[in-house]
Amino acid sequence: MRDPFTHYEYLEVSPGVSADGLKRAYQRRILEVHPDKLQQRQQSSPTSALATTNNFSKVQLAWQVLQDPRKREEYDGYLADLATRSHGIVHEAVTLDEMHFDETEQDYTRACRCGAEFLLQKEDMEIGADVALCTGCSLRIHVLY
Ligand SMILES: [Zn+2]
Repeated sequence: MRDPFTHYEYLEVSPGVSADGLKRAYQRRILEVHPDKLQQRQQSSPTSALATTNNFSKVQLAWQVLQDPRKREEYDGYLADLATRSHGIVHEAVTLDEMHFDETEQDYTRACRCGAEFLLQKEDMEIGADVALCTGCSLRIHVLY
């Protein structure tokens, strides 16, 4: 299982894209995945229409994070973090309901088979991070929310 698509991939830009390039890419992509387009497409291909609904919110989220320099920096840090642990493979995909919410720490955890746990912090979620790394081994999980 590969990692989920990154915000850059949803906007179809390279990670080094300029603010201008980002804006143009967003404007183009949001038209491509807009629900109005969806209706037209539904008639021709129901499967691609389904993918489009999902992509619309993903493209919006990607834009919200990347157009904010502070959030983009955090997101880049998160991607760099994932890259340095390149041996990690996505072990499974889980929903937030399948994770344990820690009231005190305000983060989500899930027991890993190594004895440690996968960790997804609230700050990670603010930038749309959806891969949780295990604190004890190289496994990672895709968190759907
Ligand atoms: Zn582990």
